Amino acid sequence: MLADRVGILAAGCLLSGDSGRGCPAAAVKRCNELVGLLADFVERHLPPEVHTRLERHLAACPRCVTQLKTYQSTVSLLRTIRDDDLPAELRCTLKAFVDRNCGN
Ligand SMILES: [Zn+2]
Repeated sequence: MLADRVGILAAGCLLSGDSGRGCPAAAVKRCNELVGLLADFVERHLPPEVHTRLERHLAACPRCVTQLKTYQSTVSLLRTIRDDDLPAELRCTLKAFVDRNCGN
């Protein structure tokens, strides 16, 4: 649920800032939490305040930018192809990917 994920963010990554303090492992954990929000970020489903904070994090975090670009290119690829164009096996793989990343 989006509200739950926003709550996790409020308690963790975004409100704590991106000053680079803390151990590297903690930073990775924060980024992993952010990755879970990228789908909503791209679709602009996040509350404006969270969206802005995520943008700020992206400005300082090349790793998350890479994740975002991967997600965006996957989404735009999916939008340019029709079901008929895909071999059944690839269609299943893509559907599994979408289900995993768009678990609404
Ligand atoms: Zn990050």
